[in-house]
Amino acid sequence: RSYFLRWSMHCSERTFVAIKPDGVHRGLMGRIIARLEDKGYSIVALKLIKPSKTLAESHYEALQSKPFFADLVAFITSGPVCAMVWEGKDVVAQVRKLIGNTDPLTSAPGTIRGDFGVDIGRNIIHASDSISSAKREIELWFHTQDLIEWNPTLHEWIYEKV
Ligand code: GDP
Ligand code: MG
Repeated sequence: RSYFLRWSMHCSERTFVAIKPDGVHRGLMGRIIARLEDKGYSIVALKLIKPSKTLAESHYEALQSKPFFADLVAFITSGPVCAMVWEGKDVVAQVRKLIGNTDPLTSAPGTIRGDFGVDIGRNIIHASDSISSAKREIELWFHTQDLIEWNPTLHEWIYEKV
């Protein structure tokens, strides 16, 4: 069987990750991307974007009724946002662990929010919280043709069987 068929059967879960404007302004993009690469995940798409109000509101539609919704949308649309898709085994749950709790003050040291943030409204990074929200968010932020299928040469050193 082809490499991609075997790979997609075992490991090709995807998640949507976005470095928020605070992370970009503070020069954390490189270090955050390095952490996901270091873990063994591979990048499928990346773009720097100043999101429209429509995009930000649909991204956070579940939070519409929250008192901080308007501030959150204003913050995200201020840009730039580094929007990405990452791939690998159990990537949705594992990236949530790598980023830490929503409130950086309760995020463990070693997590991205625990190491780099203080305030909940400046918590550096977003990552999808489930496989279904990952699918929704990837479709919202990216066109299918912008998701790159490639064959990372390190896979055989990260996965026992591909
Ligand atoms: P996440 O999935 O960990 O990002 O958390 P949520 O989906 O619950 O919230 C989305 C984003 O809204 C968070 O990352 C925060 O930036 C923001 N947010 C959530 N709760 C609060 C809050 O109580 N106050 C403020 N100012 N922002 C919040
Ligand atoms: Mg969320």
